[in-house]
Amino acid sequence: MYTLEDSIKTLKGIGSKTLGLYQRLSLESVWDLLFYFPRTYDKYPQVLSDFSDISDEEKVAVPMTVVEIPKNRKTKRMDITTLEGFVSDVPMEMIWFRSPYIKNQLQLKESYIFYGKLMSQGLFKKKMEQPVVFTKEKYRSVLSSLQPVYSLTKGLTNNAIKKQIHTVLEDITLPEFLSKEYLSKRNLLEFSDAVFKIHFPESFEELKVARNRLVYNEFLCFLLDMELGKSAEEKIKNSFVFPEKTYFNKCRENLPFELTKGQKACLDDLLSDVRGEYITQRLIQGDVGSGKTILAFLIMTLFVENGYQAAIMAPTEILAKQHYETFCSYLKRFELPFEALLLVGSMTAKQKREVYERISEKKACYVIGTNALIQEKANYESLALVITDEQHRFGVKQRDAFRKKGIQPFNIVMSATPIPRTLSMILYGDMNISVISDVPKNRLPIKNAVITKKDITTAYQLIYKEVERGHQAYVICPLVEASEKTESENVSDYGQKLSELFEERIHVGVLHGKMAAEEKQSIMEAFLNKSIDVLVSTTVVEVGVNVPNATVMLIEDANRFGLAALHQLRGRVGRGDAQSYCIFVDGGKSKEPNKRLTVLKESNDGFYIANEDLKLRGPGDFFGIRQSGDFDFALADIYQDADLLQKASEDAKEILALDPDLTGVYSSVGEFLKQKNIHQYTNL
Ligand code: ADP
Ligand code: MG
Repeated sequence: MYTLEDSIKTLKGIGSKTLGLYQRLSLESVWDLLFYFPRTYDKYPQVLSDFSDISDEEKVAVPMTVVEIPKNRKTKRMDITTLEGFVSDVPMEMIWFRSPYIKNQLQLKESYIFYGKLMSQGLFKKKMEQPVVFTKEKYRSVLSSLQPVYSLTKGLTNNAIKKQIHTVLEDITLPEFLSKEYLSKRNLLEFSDAVFKIHFPESFEELKVARNRLVYNEFLCFLLDMELGKSAEEKIKNSFVFPEKTYFNKCRENLPFELTKGQKACLDDLLSDVRGEYITQRLIQGDVGSGKTILAFLIMTLFVENGYQAAIMAPTEILAKQHYETFCSYLKRFELPFEALLLVGSMTAKQKREVYERISEKKACYVIGTNALIQEKANYESLALVITDEQHRFGVKQRDAFRKKGIQPFNIVMSATPIPRTLSMILYGDMNISVISDVPKNRLPIKNAVITKKDITTAYQLIYKEVERGHQAYVICPLVEASEKTESENVSDYGQKLSELFEERIHVGVLHGKMAAEEKQSIMEAFLNKSIDVLVSTTVVEVGVNVPNATVMLIEDANRFGLAALHQLRGRVGRGDAQSYCIFVDGGKSKEPNKRLTVLKESNDGFYIANEDLKLRGPGDFFGIRQSGDFDFALADIYQDADLLQKASEDAKEILALDPDLTGVYSSVGEFLKQKNIHQYTNL
């Protein structure tokens, strides 16, 4: 009998080599293994007897009668078993390696279903290697079932993981921790059933029900954790004082633009926070381009001029450096006598040491960086405000670590994820929320187009025209280099192609994530100071990058990206007062217009897009796409599962009202929560 705590070392069939493979997937315990949910599901195909339309390498199921005894032969390296026969009129050979037992499974004159990859052997013959064998009855029964497909690592097959999970599930009891009352009230499957069926669903219906239960679990645990954390974390008195406002006011009054209504309201919220009796946490939610950075700068200025350190953390070096440059230019522009420090991973040890020294000197300053800000060596002596930008790119643990860097600092997180207010009040129950729902007045709505490759010249003409007017453009490709697996565009070849096309008249630069940090930085700088006109890039520019002079965004193979990512990418243009354009190139093979791209063409509104995205997802789509970037849910999707979230929120409140620390009637829930947290955090 296994228990959830058992290390997977103790499982049969896991030797030291396999153990390493599982560890590469962060699977250490039985718990991890059972909560390693399939990435998606496959269905067995209908049995086929005519394969004139089937191309090689396709997975098929074919019927074949055993007309002769299978042959076994031994080579130096392995046992090979072969069986020859016909499928309809086509000669077929089945081949198995290292599976001599197959021979005894197959009865002469019986007919079986063979499932595997079809391959041609010469002109007339077909073969299948390692096909799985079913009796006809058995195949009929598996036809409706769904086969789990796991994320793999080299050396570990899907079948191995599947088998391992199955073995464990057959020999473990997973106690129910919810009371019967909730199970029936919310129509939930028992926990152990849900775990079994999420891996091995007999039907799509069953999968849905299993997933529902586990999504509910995720929400309930998340909300309970948050509430428990809230009550354990006593309200902290705000002992910071802000008598000085000179520089803050100077900056605010001399901005090159007028703040929008939303920005002003948010700034008021921030000011009332710092004057308040207690330390607060606040979420600033505003669509791409709504102008969150300036708010960060202003409020940080208030902290700095009152003698405190204030830090902002960004998810990429490109973005951190951009913030740093922006801040430096504001410091100069407003003649502020303060210092901004940059701290990113690619700096040399010596450079980092210098920054560490500075921040440990207790000197008031702006600190800007990536997650290098939360490294152990960074000891802030007077950190009173931490801001996490693009917070969906960080894990809960990183955000917490950041907060713990200060004594007990104010905490602001900034997000562009469009979450309806009712949901964000539940999900950010421990935070105050400010929403910026307007964009700067000077902005013209971005003009969108969806085109196919054959119209690409028109797009290049537009880019050329815009560059002639002194503007710049982005071109996004899915890949870094050419790949044998897909025909999608890659930045290296594309950059070359565009350079040749535009001859010397336009400067084309190339940017991707695999470049060294310094190279990336110098390319970004060149783009910012206009020595590059057209930047051909991967999605490394997706978050936060701000070059207001860029007016064209051309996205190649846009059909390959998710809606949320496309909306973020588009957000890189339309940041200044010139008319901007976004062109989505549909590289798909279908003749129909791509529905997701149509949504983007019709609207620039993040909320609308998130909503439409949801509607477009078919019943089979709920795996794979997970939008809840702001949270670390394994299965739950805050949009799609909004209803369950609401219910879980009501239940969490009810449970805590009856048993505030989960040690009484709901101790089983408390135990589960504890166990979950131990497992969740050991892996990070
Ligand atoms: P995001 O909310 O996506 O982080 P940014 O803070 O990067 O947006 O702002 C985008 C651009 O808009 C920047 O160039 C910024 O200077 C500019 N901006 C911010 N607020 C205003 C405003 N009220 N009026 C005009 N431009 C603004
Ligand atoms: Mg931003």
